[in-house]
Amino acid sequence: MAFLRFIPGFRTQGKLKMTFAVLYYISTLLLLFISRGVGLFFLAVPFFVFSLLDLIRYNKKSGPFSRKVLTFALALFVLIAGIANFPDTGPSKPGSSKTGTVSSNQTAAADQPGEKTQPTATNGDENNKGQEGDKKEAPDAKTEQPQENTRDAAKPSGSLEVHFIDVGQADSILVRTPDKKTMLIDAGNNADGNTVVSYIKKLGIDKVDILVGTHPHEDHIGGMDSVINSFDIGKIFMPKVSNTTKTFEDVLNAIKKKGLKISSPVPGSTFGLGEAVFTVFAPNSSSYGNLNNYSIVLKMQYGDTSFLFAGDAEVVSESEMIAKGYDLKADVLKIGHHGGNTSTTQAFLDKVNPKYAVIMVGAGNSYGHPHSSTMGKLKTKGIKVYRTDENGTVVAKSDGKNITFNTSPGSYAGGEDRGTNSPDPAPSEKNTENTATPSAPGDKIVYWTQGGKSYHYSKNCSTLARSKTILGGPLSECPKSDPCDVCTYQGN
Ligand SMILES: [Zn+2]
Ligand SMILES: [Zn+2]
Repeated sequence: MAFLRFIPGFRTQGKLKMTFAVLYYISTLLLLFISRGVGLFFLAVPFFVFSLLDLIRYNKKSGPFSRKVLTFALALFVLIAGIANFPDTGPSKPGSSKTGTVSSNQTAAADQPGEKTQPTATNGDENNKGQEGDKKEAPDAKTEQPQENTRDAAKPSGSLEVHFIDVGQADSILVRTPDKKTMLIDAGNNADGNTVVSYIKKLGIDKVDILVGTHPHEDHIGGMDSVINSFDIGKIFMPKVSNTTKTFEDVLNAIKKKGLKISSPVPGSTFGLGEAVFTVFAPNSSSYGNLNNYSIVLKMQYGDTSFLFAGDAEVVSESEMIAKGYDLKADVLKIGHHGGNTSTTQAFLDKVNPKYAVIMVGAGNSYGHPHSSTMGKLKTKGIKVYRTDENGTVVAKSDGKNITFNTSPGSYAGGEDRGTNSPDPAPSEKNTENTATPSAPGDKIVYWTQGGKSYHYSKNCSTLARSKTILGGPLSECPKSDPCDVCTYQGN
Protein backbone atom coordinates (compact mmCIF):
# COMPACT_ATOMS: atom_id res chain seq x y z
CA MET A 1 0.00 0.00 0.00
CA ALA A 2 2.92 2.28 -0.73
CA PHE A 3 0.90 4.50 -3.03
CA LEU A 4 -1.33 5.51 -0.11
CA ARG A 5 1.34 7.82 1.17
CA PHE A 6 0.75 10.03 -1.82
CA ILE A 7 -2.94 10.39 -1.08
CA PRO A 8 -3.95 13.12 1.33
CA GLY A 9 -5.82 11.66 4.30
CA PHE A 10 -4.01 8.31 4.23
CA ARG A 11 -0.48 9.47 4.64
CA THR A 12 -0.41 9.32 8.43
CA GLN A 13 -2.73 6.28 8.77
CA GLY A 14 -4.90 8.16 11.30
CA LYS A 15 -8.32 6.42 11.52
CA LEU A 16 -10.40 9.57 11.78
CA LYS A 17 -8.52 11.22 8.93
CA MET A 18 -8.90 8.12 6.78
CA THR A 19 -12.63 7.88 7.39
CA PHE A 20 -13.07 11.51 6.47
CA ALA A 21 -10.89 11.03 3.38
CA VAL A 22 -12.91 7.99 2.21
CA LEU A 23 -16.19 9.92 2.55
CA TYR A 24 -14.64 12.88 0.75
CA TYR A 25 -13.37 10.84 -2.19
CA ILE A 26 -16.66 8.96 -2.53
CA SER A 27 -18.53 12.24 -2.77
CA THR A 28 -16.09 13.63 -5.34
CA LEU A 29 -16.64 10.46 -7.41
CA LEU A 30 -20.41 11.06 -7.23
CA LEU A 31 -19.76 14.64 -8.25
CA LEU A 32 -17.80 13.42 -11.28
CA PHE A 33 -20.94 11.74 -12.53
CA ILE A 34 -23.04 14.84 -12.04
CA SER A 35 -20.52 17.38 -13.33
CA ARG A 36 -17.09 16.41 -14.53
CA GLY A 37 -15.63 19.85 -13.88
CA VAL A 38 -16.89 20.17 -10.33
CA GLY A 39 -15.86 16.57 -9.54
CA LEU A 40 -12.31 17.06 -10.86
CA PHE A 41 -12.02 20.31 -8.96
CA PHE A 42 -12.90 18.79 -5.59
CA LEU A 43 -10.79 15.72 -6.31
CA ALA A 44 -7.75 17.92 -7.00
CA VAL A 45 -8.19 20.28 -4.04
CA PRO A 46 -6.58 18.06 -1.32
CA PHE A 47 -3.71 17.03 -3.62
CA PHE A 48 -3.14 20.65 -4.50
CA VAL A 49 -3.23 21.88 -0.89
CA PHE A 50 -0.97 19.12 0.53
CA SER A 51 1.56 19.19 -2.30
CA LEU A 52 1.77 22.92 -1.92
CA LEU A 53 2.38 22.50 1.84
CA ASP A 54 4.99 19.82 1.05
CA LEU A 55 6.80 22.21 -1.23
CA ILE A 56 6.78 24.98 1.34
CA ARG A 57 7.97 22.74 4.20
CA TYR A 58 10.29 20.64 2.06
CA ASN A 59 12.88 18.44 3.76
CA LYS A 60 15.02 15.75 2.17
CA LYS A 61 13.63 12.86 4.24
CA SER A 62 10.32 12.79 2.45
CA GLY A 63 11.80 12.18 -1.02
CA PRO A 64 13.26 14.08 -3.95
CA PHE A 65 12.18 17.67 -4.52
CA SER A 66 11.42 17.03 -8.20
CA ARG A 67 8.73 14.51 -7.22
CA LYS A 68 7.08 17.10 -4.97
CA VAL A 69 7.11 19.59 -7.82
CA LEU A 70 5.64 16.99 -10.16
CA THR A 71 2.83 16.13 -7.71
CA PHE A 72 2.08 19.79 -7.25
CA ALA A 73 2.06 20.46 -11.00
CA LEU A 74 -0.20 17.46 -11.60
CA ALA A 75 -2.62 18.58 -8.87
CA LEU A 76 -2.62 22.11 -10.24
CA PHE A 77 -3.30 20.82 -13.76
CA VAL A 78 -6.28 18.71 -12.63
CA LEU A 79 -7.57 21.64 -10.57
CA ILE A 80 -7.44 23.97 -13.58
CA ALA A 81 -8.95 21.33 -15.84
CA GLY A 82 -11.78 21.04 -13.32
CA ILE A 83 -12.37 24.78 -13.25
CA ALA A 84 -12.27 24.97 -17.05
CA ASN A 85 -14.95 22.31 -17.16
CA PHE A 86 -17.22 24.14 -14.73
CA PRO A 87 -20.65 24.19 -16.30
CA ASP A 88 -20.90 27.97 -16.73
CA THR A 89 -17.38 28.59 -18.02
CA GLY A 90 -16.34 25.59 -20.06
CA PRO A 91 -18.01 23.65 -22.83
CA SER A 92 -18.86 20.80 -20.46
CA LYS A 93 -21.39 18.17 -21.30
CA PRO A 94 -22.46 17.19 -17.81
CA GLY A 95 -26.06 17.93 -18.66
CA SER A 96 -26.36 15.09 -21.15
CA SER A 97 -27.68 12.71 -18.53
CA LYS A 98 -30.23 15.31 -17.44
CA THR A 99 -32.02 16.08 -20.66
CA GLY A 100 -35.09 14.33 -19.36
CA THR A 101 -35.28 16.53 -16.29
CA VAL A 102 -34.81 19.70 -18.29
CA SER A 103 -37.50 19.02 -20.84
CA SER A 104 -40.01 18.12 -18.17
CA ASN A 105 -39.19 21.40 -16.48
CA GLN A 106 -39.87 23.22 -19.71
CA THR A 107 -43.37 21.86 -19.98
CA ALA A 108 -43.97 22.78 -16.38
CA ALA A 109 -42.72 26.29 -17.01
CA ALA A 110 -44.86 26.67 -20.11
CA ASP A 111 -48.00 25.79 -18.19
CA GLN A 112 -47.13 28.22 -15.50
CA PRO A 113 -47.53 31.89 -16.36
CA GLY A 114 -45.68 34.51 -14.42
CA GLU A 115 -42.37 36.22 -13.99
CA LYS A 116 -39.42 34.73 -15.76
CA THR A 117 -37.70 34.32 -12.43
CA GLN A 118 -40.28 31.88 -11.16
CA PRO A 119 -39.47 29.00 -13.49
CA THR A 120 -35.80 29.56 -12.68
CA ALA A 121 -36.33 29.01 -8.99
CA THR A 122 -38.51 25.98 -9.57
CA ASN A 123 -35.96 24.38 -11.85
CA GLY A 124 -33.20 24.78 -9.33
CA ASP A 125 -35.31 23.02 -6.71
CA GLU A 126 -36.38 20.22 -8.96
CA ASN A 127 -32.87 19.56 -10.17
CA ASN A 128 -31.65 19.35 -6.63
CA LYS A 129 -34.34 16.89 -5.64
CA GLY A 130 -33.68 14.82 -8.72
CA GLN A 131 -29.94 14.70 -8.12
CA GLU A 132 -30.06 13.79 -4.43
CA GLY A 133 -29.65 17.31 -3.21
CA ASP A 134 -25.97 18.04 -3.56
CA LYS A 135 -25.59 21.78 -3.46
CA LYS A 136 -22.46 21.59 -5.60
CA GLU A 137 -24.45 20.95 -8.73
CA ALA A 138 -26.31 24.21 -8.50
CA PRO A 139 -24.12 25.74 -11.26
CA ASP A 140 -25.54 23.12 -13.64
CA ALA A 141 -29.04 24.34 -13.10
CA LYS A 142 -27.96 27.88 -13.96
CA THR A 143 -26.51 27.06 -17.36
CA GLU A 144 -29.70 25.54 -18.65
CA GLN A 145 -31.98 28.39 -17.72
CA PRO A 146 -31.05 30.99 -20.33
CA GLN A 147 -32.14 28.69 -23.16
CA GLU A 148 -35.33 28.02 -21.35
CA ASN A 149 -36.17 31.68 -20.85
CA THR A 150 -35.80 32.44 -24.54
CA ARG A 151 -38.16 29.61 -25.31
CA ASP A 152 -40.68 30.97 -22.83
CA ALA A 153 -40.50 34.40 -24.44
CA ALA A 154 -41.24 32.99 -27.87
CA LYS A 155 -44.28 31.05 -26.83
CA PRO A 156 -46.83 32.99 -24.78
CA SER A 157 -48.08 31.21 -21.72
CA GLY A 158 -51.81 31.83 -22.05
CA SER A 159 -54.57 33.84 -23.70
CA LEU A 160 -54.42 37.59 -24.06
CA GLU A 161 -57.75 39.44 -24.29
CA VAL A 162 -58.58 42.64 -26.11
CA HIS A 163 -61.95 44.14 -25.13
CA PHE A 164 -63.37 46.73 -27.52
CA ILE A 165 -65.82 48.12 -24.99
CA ASP A 166 -69.09 49.34 -26.49
CA VAL A 167 -69.16 53.03 -25.61
CA GLY A 168 -71.21 54.14 -28.61
CA GLN A 169 -69.59 56.73 -30.87
CA ALA A 170 -66.29 56.62 -28.94
CA ASP A 171 -63.24 54.45 -28.23
CA SER A 172 -62.28 52.39 -25.20
CA ILE A 173 -60.09 49.32 -25.54
CA LEU A 174 -58.91 47.13 -22.69
CA VAL A 175 -55.93 44.80 -23.10
CA ARG A 176 -55.42 42.06 -20.52
CA THR A 177 -52.39 39.75 -20.59
CA PRO A 178 -52.43 36.24 -19.09
CA ASP A 179 -50.20 37.44 -16.26
CA LYS A 180 -52.87 40.03 -15.38
CA LYS A 181 -51.20 43.12 -16.77
CA THR A 182 -53.75 45.68 -17.92
CA MET A 183 -53.74 48.47 -20.46
CA LEU A 184 -56.58 50.80 -21.35
CA ILE A 185 -56.52 52.69 -24.63
CA ASP A 186 -59.04 55.57 -24.35
CA ALA A 187 -62.02 55.74 -22.01
CA GLY A 188 -65.04 56.83 -24.06
CA ASN A 189 -67.03 60.06 -23.70
CA ASN A 190 -67.57 61.90 -20.41
CA ALA A 191 -70.87 60.05 -19.98
CA ASP A 192 -69.13 56.69 -20.47
CA GLY A 193 -66.86 57.03 -17.41
CA ASN A 194 -69.04 54.78 -15.24
CA THR A 195 -69.58 52.21 -17.99
CA VAL A 196 -65.84 51.85 -18.54
CA VAL A 197 -65.01 51.77 -14.82
CA SER A 198 -67.63 49.14 -13.99
CA TYR A 199 -66.67 47.04 -17.02
CA ILE A 200 -63.06 46.94 -15.83
CA LYS A 201 -64.07 46.31 -12.20
CA LYS A 202 -66.26 43.37 -13.22
CA LEU A 203 -63.17 41.68 -14.61
CA GLY A 204 -61.65 41.87 -11.13
CA ILE A 205 -59.05 44.42 -12.18
CA ASP A 206 -57.84 47.01 -9.66
CA LYS A 207 -54.78 48.32 -11.46
CA VAL A 208 -54.41 49.79 -14.94
CA ASP A 209 -50.70 49.40 -15.67
CA ILE A 210 -50.74 51.61 -18.75
CA LEU A 211 -53.43 54.16 -19.55
CA VAL A 212 -53.36 55.67 -23.03
CA GLY A 213 -55.28 58.76 -24.07
CA THR A 214 -54.72 58.58 -27.85
CA HIS A 215 -55.60 62.26 -28.44
CA PRO A 216 -57.49 64.91 -26.46
CA HIS A 217 -60.94 64.55 -28.08
CA GLU A 218 -63.84 63.94 -25.72
CA ASP A 219 -64.84 60.62 -27.31
CA HIS A 220 -61.39 59.27 -26.32
CA ILE A 221 -60.46 60.94 -23.05
CA GLY A 222 -63.95 61.78 -21.70
CA GLY A 223 -64.03 58.97 -19.13
CA MET A 224 -60.33 59.08 -18.33
CA ASP A 225 -60.74 61.10 -15.14
CA SER A 226 -63.19 58.51 -13.77
CA VAL A 227 -60.72 55.73 -14.62
CA ILE A 228 -57.84 57.59 -12.95
CA ASN A 229 -59.94 58.19 -9.83
CA SER A 230 -61.13 54.56 -9.63
CA PHE A 231 -57.97 52.53 -10.23
CA ASP A 232 -54.36 52.29 -9.27
CA ILE A 233 -52.60 53.70 -12.36
CA GLY A 234 -49.12 52.78 -13.55
CA LYS A 235 -48.15 54.93 -16.52
CA ILE A 236 -50.11 57.47 -18.55
CA PHE A 237 -49.36 57.98 -22.23
CA MET A 238 -50.74 60.99 -24.10
CA PRO A 239 -49.49 62.91 -27.13
CA LYS A 240 -47.76 66.28 -26.75
CA VAL A 241 -50.79 68.43 -27.50
CA SER A 242 -53.29 70.21 -25.33
CA ASN A 243 -56.91 71.13 -25.74
CA THR A 244 -58.83 73.97 -24.12
CA THR A 245 -61.91 71.88 -23.31
CA LYS A 246 -63.17 71.22 -19.79
CA THR A 247 -62.90 67.50 -20.55
CA PHE A 248 -59.16 67.86 -21.09
CA GLU A 249 -58.77 69.99 -17.95
CA ASP A 250 -60.65 67.37 -15.90
CA VAL A 251 -58.18 64.72 -17.04
CA LEU A 252 -55.17 66.90 -16.24
CA ASN A 253 -56.58 67.65 -12.78
CA ALA A 254 -57.21 63.97 -12.06
CA ILE A 255 -53.64 63.17 -13.10
CA LYS A 256 -52.25 65.96 -10.94
CA LYS A 257 -54.33 65.00 -7.91
CA LYS A 258 -52.92 61.47 -8.02
CA GLY A 259 -49.37 62.76 -8.42
CA LEU A 260 -49.03 61.02 -11.77
CA LYS A 261 -47.08 62.17 -14.81
CA ILE A 262 -47.89 62.08 -18.51
CA SER A 263 -45.33 60.60 -20.87
CA SER A 264 -45.42 60.96 -24.63
CA PRO A 265 -44.12 57.82 -26.31
CA VAL A 266 -41.55 58.27 -29.05
CA PRO A 267 -42.39 56.79 -32.47
CA GLY A 268 -40.36 53.69 -33.18
CA SER A 269 -39.87 52.89 -29.48
CA THR A 270 -41.21 49.75 -27.84
CA PHE A 271 -42.50 48.82 -24.42
CA GLY A 272 -43.84 45.68 -22.84
CA LEU A 273 -47.05 44.72 -21.11
CA GLY A 274 -46.52 41.26 -19.64
CA GLU A 275 -45.60 39.10 -22.59
CA ALA A 276 -47.07 41.54 -25.14
CA VAL A 277 -44.75 43.98 -26.91
CA PHE A 278 -45.99 47.36 -28.11
CA THR A 279 -44.36 49.52 -30.78
CA VAL A 280 -45.23 53.19 -31.13
CA PHE A 281 -45.99 54.21 -34.74
CA ALA A 282 -47.43 57.72 -34.38
CA PRO A 283 -47.62 60.71 -34.03
CA ASN A 284 -44.54 61.40 -36.16
CA SER A 285 -44.76 65.19 -36.37
CA SER A 286 -44.86 67.82 -33.66
CA SER A 287 -47.76 69.78 -35.09
CA TYR A 288 -50.84 69.01 -37.14
CA GLY A 289 -53.83 71.01 -38.25
CA ASN A 290 -56.19 68.36 -36.93
CA LEU A 291 -56.15 66.88 -33.42
CA ASN A 292 -56.96 63.41 -34.79
CA ASN A 293 -53.53 63.17 -36.37
CA TYR A 294 -51.89 63.54 -32.95
CA SER A 295 -53.34 60.09 -32.15
CA ILE A 296 -50.92 57.69 -30.52
CA VAL A 297 -50.90 54.65 -32.80
CA LEU A 298 -49.68 51.37 -31.31
CA LYS A 299 -48.98 47.93 -32.65
CA MET A 300 -49.16 45.06 -30.20
CA GLN A 301 -47.29 41.83 -30.87
CA TYR A 302 -48.33 38.80 -28.85
CA GLY A 303 -46.61 35.60 -29.95
CA ASP A 304 -47.29 35.32 -33.67
CA THR A 305 -50.40 37.52 -33.51
CA SER A 306 -50.60 41.31 -33.80
CA PHE A 307 -53.07 44.15 -33.33
CA LEU A 308 -52.84 47.70 -34.64
CA PHE A 309 -54.65 50.37 -32.63
CA ALA A 310 -55.00 53.40 -34.90
CA GLY A 311 -56.85 55.85 -32.64
CA ASP A 312 -58.34 58.57 -34.85
CA ALA A 313 -55.26 58.85 -37.09
CA GLU A 314 -56.22 60.26 -40.47
CA VAL A 315 -54.67 60.38 -43.93
CA VAL A 316 -51.74 62.62 -42.95
CA SER A 317 -50.62 60.36 -40.10
CA GLU A 318 -51.21 57.21 -42.15
CA SER A 319 -48.98 58.61 -44.94
CA GLU A 320 -46.28 59.40 -42.38
CA MET A 321 -46.39 55.89 -40.91
CA ILE A 322 -45.99 54.41 -44.39
CA ALA A 323 -43.16 56.84 -45.23
CA LYS A 324 -41.37 55.87 -42.00
CA GLY A 325 -41.27 52.27 -43.21
CA TYR A 326 -42.74 50.74 -40.06
CA ASP A 327 -43.83 47.12 -40.19
CA LEU A 328 -47.54 47.96 -40.21
CA LYS A 329 -48.69 44.38 -40.92
CA ALA A 330 -51.21 43.27 -38.30
CA ASP A 331 -53.85 40.56 -37.92
CA VAL A 332 -56.39 42.92 -36.37
CA LEU A 333 -56.79 46.60 -37.26
CA LYS A 334 -58.79 48.91 -35.00
CA ILE A 335 -59.96 51.11 -37.85
CA GLY A 336 -58.96 54.76 -37.49
CA HIS A 337 -61.48 57.47 -36.68
CA HIS A 338 -64.62 55.31 -36.35
CA GLY A 339 -64.50 54.27 -40.00
CA GLY A 340 -64.64 57.84 -41.34
CA ASN A 341 -63.52 58.52 -44.90
CA THR A 342 -60.58 60.66 -43.78
CA SER A 343 -58.84 57.53 -42.48
CA THR A 344 -58.04 54.05 -43.80
CA THR A 345 -56.52 54.97 -47.15
CA GLN A 346 -56.08 52.08 -49.54
CA ALA A 347 -52.29 52.40 -49.20
CA PHE A 348 -52.48 52.12 -45.41
CA LEU A 349 -54.95 49.27 -45.48
CA ASP A 350 -52.75 47.38 -47.95
CA LYS A 351 -49.72 47.79 -45.68
CA VAL A 352 -51.56 46.62 -42.56
CA ASN A 353 -53.31 43.93 -44.58
CA PRO A 354 -55.42 42.71 -41.63
CA LYS A 355 -57.55 39.57 -41.44
CA TYR A 356 -59.94 41.31 -39.07
CA ALA A 357 -61.03 44.89 -38.57
CA VAL A 358 -62.78 46.38 -35.55
CA ILE A 359 -64.77 49.60 -35.87
CA MET A 360 -65.77 51.44 -32.72
CA VAL A 361 -68.86 53.35 -33.70
CA GLY A 362 -72.28 54.34 -32.33
CA ALA A 363 -75.47 53.06 -33.96
CA GLY A 364 -77.23 55.81 -35.94
CA ASN A 365 -74.50 58.37 -35.28
CA SER A 366 -74.79 61.75 -36.97
CA TYR A 367 -71.44 61.50 -38.79
CA GLY A 368 -72.42 58.71 -41.13
CA HIS A 369 -69.69 56.54 -39.57
CA PRO A 370 -68.53 54.11 -40.70
CA HIS A 371 -68.28 55.57 -44.18
CA SER A 372 -69.46 53.46 -47.08
CA SER A 373 -66.13 53.96 -48.87
CA THR A 374 -64.24 52.52 -45.89
CA MET A 375 -66.63 49.56 -45.73
CA GLY A 376 -66.18 49.03 -49.47
CA LYS A 377 -62.40 48.78 -49.09
CA LEU A 378 -62.76 46.26 -46.26
CA LYS A 379 -65.28 44.21 -48.21
CA THR A 380 -63.12 44.12 -51.34
CA LYS A 381 -60.21 42.74 -49.34
CA GLY A 382 -62.43 40.17 -47.64
CA ILE A 383 -61.58 41.51 -44.19
CA LYS A 384 -63.96 40.33 -41.46
CA VAL A 385 -65.41 43.37 -39.71
CA TYR A 386 -66.52 43.55 -36.08
CA ARG A 387 -68.33 46.76 -35.15
CA THR A 388 -69.62 47.93 -31.80
CA ASP A 389 -72.81 49.41 -33.32
CA GLU A 390 -73.87 45.92 -34.46
CA ASN A 391 -71.92 43.56 -32.18
CA GLY A 392 -71.85 45.53 -28.92
CA THR A 393 -68.65 44.92 -26.96
CA VAL A 394 -66.22 42.91 -29.09
CA VAL A 395 -63.72 40.66 -27.31
CA ALA A 396 -60.79 39.21 -29.23
CA LYS A 397 -58.67 36.46 -27.68
CA SER A 398 -55.17 35.50 -28.79
CA ASP A 399 -53.26 32.45 -27.61
CA GLY A 400 -50.21 33.69 -29.48
CA LYS A 401 -51.07 31.62 -32.57
CA ASN A 402 -54.78 32.12 -33.26
CA ILE A 403 -57.26 34.92 -32.67
CA THR A 404 -60.88 34.22 -31.81
CA PHE A 405 -63.81 36.60 -31.30
CA ASN A 406 -66.76 36.47 -28.90
CA THR A 407 -69.21 37.20 -31.75
CA SER A 408 -69.72 36.72 -35.47
CA PRO A 409 -68.61 39.48 -37.85
CA GLY A 410 -70.94 42.39 -38.58
CA SER A 411 -72.12 43.79 -41.91
CA TYR A 412 -70.35 45.96 -44.49
CA ALA A 413 -73.13 48.56 -44.31
CA GLY A 414 -71.76 52.10 -44.32
CA GLY A 415 -72.95 55.66 -44.08
CA GLU A 416 -73.88 57.71 -47.12
CA ASP A 417 -71.31 59.59 -49.13
CA ARG A 418 -72.11 63.20 -48.41
CA GLY A 419 -69.87 64.71 -51.04
CA THR A 420 -69.01 68.39 -50.91
CA ASN A 421 -71.73 69.40 -48.46
CA SER A 422 -70.71 66.96 -45.77
CA PRO A 423 -68.84 68.49 -42.87
CA ASP A 424 -65.52 66.84 -42.16
CA PRO A 425 -66.21 64.42 -39.34
CA ALA A 426 -63.30 65.67 -37.28
CA PRO A 427 -64.44 69.18 -36.31
CA SER A 428 -67.98 68.09 -35.58
CA GLU A 429 -66.66 65.68 -32.96
CA LYS A 430 -68.27 67.56 -30.08
CA ASN A 431 -65.06 69.44 -29.69
CA THR A 432 -64.69 72.82 -31.25
CA GLU A 433 -62.13 74.52 -29.06
CA ASN A 434 -59.01 72.80 -30.30
CA THR A 435 -55.72 74.57 -30.00
CA ALA A 436 -55.07 72.99 -33.34
CA THR A 437 -56.94 74.67 -36.17
CA PRO A 438 -59.98 72.61 -36.96
CA SER A 439 -60.34 71.86 -40.61
CA ALA A 440 -63.09 73.92 -42.19
CA PRO A 441 -66.47 72.38 -42.96
CA GLY A 442 -66.47 71.10 -46.49
CA ASP A 443 -62.73 70.58 -46.29
CA LYS A 444 -61.74 68.41 -49.24
CA ILE A 445 -59.30 65.55 -49.19
CA VAL A 446 -56.44 66.36 -51.52
CA TYR A 447 -53.15 64.75 -52.48
CA TRP A 448 -49.68 66.12 -53.07
CA THR A 449 -46.02 65.17 -53.27
CA GLN A 450 -43.17 66.66 -51.33
CA GLY A 451 -41.54 68.27 -54.37
CA GLY A 452 -44.73 69.01 -56.34
CA LYS A 453 -46.05 72.50 -57.03
CA SER A 454 -49.77 71.97 -56.62
CA TYR A 455 -52.30 69.74 -54.86
CA HIS A 456 -54.52 67.21 -56.58
CA TYR A 457 -58.12 66.24 -56.11
CA SER A 458 -57.44 62.74 -57.33
CA LYS A 459 -54.69 60.43 -56.21
CA ASN A 460 -54.94 58.90 -59.67
CA CYS A 461 -54.22 62.21 -61.38
CA SER A 462 -52.01 61.54 -64.43
CA THR A 463 -49.42 64.06 -63.22
CA LEU A 464 -48.90 61.94 -60.08
CA ALA A 465 -48.40 58.71 -62.02
CA ARG A 466 -44.63 58.69 -61.57
CA SER A 467 -44.57 59.82 -57.93
CA LYS A 468 -43.57 57.17 -55.41
CA THR A 469 -44.82 58.75 -52.20
CA ILE A 470 -48.12 60.53 -52.50
CA LEU A 471 -49.17 62.40 -49.36
CA GLY A 472 -52.76 63.17 -48.62
CA GLY A 473 -55.04 64.99 -46.21
CA PRO A 474 -57.68 67.67 -45.82
CA LEU A 475 -57.08 70.73 -47.98
CA SER A 476 -56.68 72.83 -44.81
CA GLU A 477 -53.57 70.83 -43.95
CA CYS A 478 -52.08 70.78 -47.44
CA PRO A 479 -48.84 72.76 -47.72
CA LYS A 480 -49.46 73.53 -51.43
CA SER A 481 -51.69 76.47 -52.33
CA ASP A 482 -52.42 75.91 -56.03
CA PRO A 483 -54.84 73.34 -57.37
CA CYS A 484 -53.73 71.08 -60.18
CA ASP A 485 -55.15 72.03 -63.62
CA VAL A 486 -55.42 68.45 -64.80
CA CYS A 487 -57.70 66.95 -62.16
CA THR A 488 -60.70 68.99 -61.13
CA TYR A 489 -62.75 68.57 -57.97
CA GLN A 490 -65.59 66.09 -58.24
CA GLY A 491 -66.40 65.49 -54.59
CA ASN A 492 -64.80 63.11 -52.06
ZN1 LIG B 1 -60.83 62.45 -32.57
ZN1 LIG C 1 -62.85 59.73 -32.15
